[in-house]
Amino acid sequence: MPTYEYRCNACGRNVTLTYKTYAEYDEATPTCIHCNSADLTRLISRVAFSRSVTSRLISGGWDDDTALSELEHADPRTMGRVLREMGAEVGEDIGPEFDEVVDRLDRGQSVEEIGASMPDLAGDGDSI
Ligand SMILES: [Zn+2]
Repeated sequence: MPTYEYRCNACGRNVTLTYKTYAEYDEATPTCIHCNSADLTRLISRVAFSRSVTSRLISGGWDDDTALSELEHADPRTMGRVLREMGAEVGEDIGPEFDEVVDRLDRGQSVEEIGASMPDLAGDGDSI
């Protein structure tokens, strides 16, 4: 299930919200479970980032992420470079699947080829 972490700007606490689907996430207004404020800032969890980017990259579930949708028609090496930069912003080691996908893109493999050889990820596009 998609899980998102937020910091509440009203009470300063961290909030973790889980949605059944990405569609539900799109429609929902996240509110703080502590003080009910809607003034939340999304935090990017490196694990969630790795898994969601990797699975959505492979399964083509780009729709709700503009930064990724712009990459949809990029060549594999460009895609790999941009993903590596995104990973660097998240920091640390964001997961072996992500590294493998980026390495394969760097070698010029298409997302279709990568998806075919990593079916666990390709089949996991709607959950984290
Ligand atoms: Zn709050």
